[in-house]
Amino acid sequence: MASKTRTALVIGGGIAGPVCAMALRQAGIEATVHEAHHRTADGVGGGLGIAPNGLDALDVVGVGHLVRPIGIPTTGIVLQDWAGKRLGEFGNPPGVPPTQFVWRTDLYRALYDEATRRGVRIEHGKRLVGVREAPEAVTAQFADGTTAGADILIGADGIRSTVRTLIDPAAPGPRYAGLISFGARVCHPGVPATRGKMNMSFGKQAFIGYQVFDDSSAVWFVNLPHREPMTTAEAQRTSAEQWLALLQRKFTQDRTPAGRLIAATDPADLVIAGPMENMPKVPAWSRGRMVLVGDSAHAPSSSSGQGASLSVESAVQLARCLRDLPHDQAFAAYEQLRRPRVERIIDETTRKNGNKAAGPVGRVVNNVLMRVVTRLVRPEKAAWMFDHRIDWDAPVSPADHRDPARAA
Ligand SMILES: Cc1cc2nc3c(=O)[nH]c(=O)nc-3n(C[C@H](O)[C@H](O)[C@H](O)COP(=O)(O)OP(=O)(O)OC[C@H]3O[C@@H](n4cnc5c(N)ncnc54)[C@H](O)[C@@H]3O)c2cc1C
Repeated sequence: MASKTRTALVIGGGIAGPVCAMALRQAGIEATVHEAHHRTADGVGGGLGIAPNGLDALDVVGVGHLVRPIGIPTTGIVLQDWAGKRLGEFGNPPGVPPTQFVWRTDLYRALYDEATRRGVRIEHGKRLVGVREAPEAVTAQFADGTTAGADILIGADGIRSTVRTLIDPAAPGPRYAGLISFGARVCHPGVPATRGKMNMSFGKQAFIGYQVFDDSSAVWFVNLPHREPMTTAEAQRTSAEQWLALLQRKFTQDRTPAGRLIAATDPADLVIAGPMENMPKVPAWSRGRMVLVGDSAHAPSSSSGQGASLSVESAVQLARCLRDLPHDQAFAAYEQLRRPRVERIIDETTRKNGNKAAGPVGRVVNNVLMRVVTRLVRPEKAAWMFDHRIDWDAPVSPADHRDPARAA
């Protein structure tokens, strides 16, 4: 029988990587994180949601209390059309705590600091380019010519994962969703408070989400239909002033607060987050001593509000499996635990990106659909997604086929 895992290389120091390393330490496994970028990702990225299920996973590794204070609670979503007419509302399922809206940079910093405080080594400038596999170990090869070895290698290297291709050269990659994403915080846009709700409007030419707080500050994000794929670097070559002027024009026909929010935005505060992408299902999550965690294995549509939450859930569950089982059985148990849940969430949320890129006819159909859907969808039916608890102390056995999503 294979022996228990003692050491792990975590490739990628984004969100899943540091959480995975902390969870592994909690499971008695020494983990080092190897991040491609030479510098930390401070100040990079827009806003994302940490749903109650994500917070529960963070609590399991004792970091939830660091994330709650940097989050802005969102208790529901109000959908509007371009005229500001209310199409419907999605409330939080009864008894489920609010999702926290966080800036990625703040989340990243909180997790990074806590991981290093706990003694996790995070090495920068280590871009994984290859692996050498042996029966008893795996060696990572980095672009700078250095190598590192351990019992296992975990690919927390995001939606464009190198580890995914090393596991399966035929693995699919992300597909452009036809939208470019922007976001900003605004001090005093002069827009009425939205009472804890995120308002989302399918405008005539672009989609906007915004929340205005009681102190009159606000956050907004825009998904702008854009036919040609554009990388984040390409999008950032256009100045913030130019983008803001373009976005302003896109909302001139709409009768929502979009124009005012954009006009009140300081160009220095504009986050050009880049293309939105959909990730097809990944057939192989592991091979030999390599396994995937986070966006590399399962990246739901960014409209789902579940990407970061599912990533940290998976990071914690992988560590739990490795705590109790030799790596080959652990990888299989991990996939059995995680795949049905993440794929169900991906299936239920992928359609949203398509709706946002709709043309004039699609928009009318959308609005009708939204009215029907918001009347028919009962928040309690989505409770299974949010009300997901990880029982860290429960032992994992190889035959553990139970899946909370299916049981719900
Ligand atoms: C810079 C950045 C900004 C983002 N901004 C947003 C946002 O505004 N809104 C949103 O919803 N989501 C954003 N995301 C994605 C979001 O963080 C993830 O969807 C989610 O949190 C899951 O995290 P992850 O750790 O699996 O992937 P990521 O957070 O993408 O982290 C992956 C990490 O792996 C590193 N990496 C990649 N390839 C290699 C390699 N070959 N060798 C070593 N390291 C490698 C990357 O540099 C990155 O740090 C952003 C991601 C990044 C990297």
